[in-house]
Amino acid sequence: MEKSSELKAIFLPFLSTSHIIPLVDMARLFALHGVDVTIITTSHNATIFEKSIDLDASRGRSIRTHVVKFPASKVGLPPGIEAFNVDTPKEMTPKIYMGLAILQKDFEQLFHDLQPDFIVTDMFHPWTADVAAKLGIPRLMFHGASYLARSAAHSVEQYAPHLNVKSDTEKFTLPDLPDRLEMTRLQLPDWLRSPNPYTELMKTIKESEKRSYGSLFNSFYELESAYYEHYKKVMGTKSWGLGPVSLWANQDALDKAARGYAKEEEGKEEEEGWLKWLNSKPESSVLYVSFGSMNKFPHSQLVEIAHALEDSGHYFIWVVRKNGEGEDDGFLEEFEKRVKASNKGYLIWGWAPQLLILENPAIGGLVTHCGWNTVVESVNAGLPMVTWPLFAEHFFNEKLVVDVLRIGVGVGAKEWRNWNQFGSEVVKREDIGNAIALLMDGGEEDVEMRKRAKALSDAAKRAIKEGGSSHNNILQLIQDLKSIKLSKTQTVD
Ligand code: UDP
Repeated sequence: MEKSSELKAIFLPFLSTSHIIPLVDMARLFALHGVDVTIITTSHNATIFEKSIDLDASRGRSIRTHVVKFPASKVGLPPGIEAFNVDTPKEMTPKIYMGLAILQKDFEQLFHDLQPDFIVTDMFHPWTADVAAKLGIPRLMFHGASYLARSAAHSVEQYAPHLNVKSDTEKFTLPDLPDRLEMTRLQLPDWLRSPNPYTELMKTIKESEKRSYGSLFNSFYELESAYYEHYKKVMGTKSWGLGPVSLWANQDALDKAARGYAKEEEGKEEEEGWLKWLNSKPESSVLYVSFGSMNKFPHSQLVEIAHALEDSGHYFIWVVRKNGEGEDDGFLEEFEKRVKASNKGYLIWGWAPQLLILENPAIGGLVTHCGWNTVVESVNAGLPMVTWPLFAEHFFNEKLVVDVLRIGVGVGAKEWRNWNQFGSEVVKREDIGNAIALLMDGGEEDVEMRKRAKALSDAAKRAIKEGGSSHNNILQLIQDLKSIKLSKTQTVD
């Protein structure tokens, strides 16, 4: 007979690689703490993390994936296109949303059939607040962003400071935040600049959050404590930081290598090469250059990055993707040959085992688009960053890294764009080079940044240990959820 103290949970990630990865890590943390976990996803998306789940199950944890078939033929998509990432053709995105809408009924049925005690769903499934209410169980909403980013968006929604400036490039201050943070209109996401359908979606999400038991972030108290408190205050909701989830859920090399590993054929060959190459380099001498799971640059931007890296004189690993826009003139292949011959650089085409790379002692810093997972992973590794925000809430995350934590140098990105567009801005090699120099040249500011990054890395490690903030949060949350279950059982009795 089921014991009333045992908790059964369903986790429902969104259909994008970088939202799936941290939510699955969280699901694994709940399983690590004795909760019975079922992750619901579609077949192709399951390949992103099934190795990790198999590993956990073999360790005796009560965790599994429940796979549902994506209705590709119904929405006119070829098989396998069921996630938002770098490989998603732009014209197919609306069809993926259509498929997701069709799946809603199946998901809802599963919630009824599996009878969980609580559900944890991505923010992009706001309808699950109603289902949880119908089932009389708590819903926790996962945010794929930082507390600062959510607080900043809230500030713009409340006070519209961007409407008080005369031009798109004039700076304004974000009102009512713990720090004085300045931005321009061009750096704001389009849905915050002026209303569009996404603005409506974000409103619905916020409203669903208010009707939830609380929210979960891949963050930790010491990383952004003022914003952690601020967010809870302005939203009037409960929230728990459980990060860094990458560090906590992926303790050994097998976990780290399995993470987000959708493309085995490419990855396996690379692994040997990059590791050997990195191991031959001095400590803290290599830049890791990556722009996440969703970005493609136009060819002209790839050329600027290549020159900046080569001219910097530093070692680098660059995770590079062609843009598929037919501009390719063999430049990147030539570049790869050249930097291989000079032994200065290593190119990884496609997917890189980021966690393993970042923890290698040869890595000395990153060039990053400020995707939230990558920011948390670099903090965890104690590495300073060159920040190059592109889309989503990256420009807000840059504020945290550069202005609040002071562990980064901005490349000077001026313009927000959509994840599946190139935008009009091409950052010049000189600007990229200047930021790299400040980060890697061992100057006074560089030394101070490294000290601060190291202190945060130590704090991250403490947060997930017994007595640490994230550790306490998960224990307390599980205790609360058990009490809710128990009180319901008693009411029924
Ligand atoms: N990632 C990886 N290898 C890659 C690219 C990305 O392992 O080649 C992982 C990275 O470690 C992070 C996630 O994918 O966990 C990317 O999320 P992030 O929020 O940084 O950026 P996004 O993909 O949303 O732009």
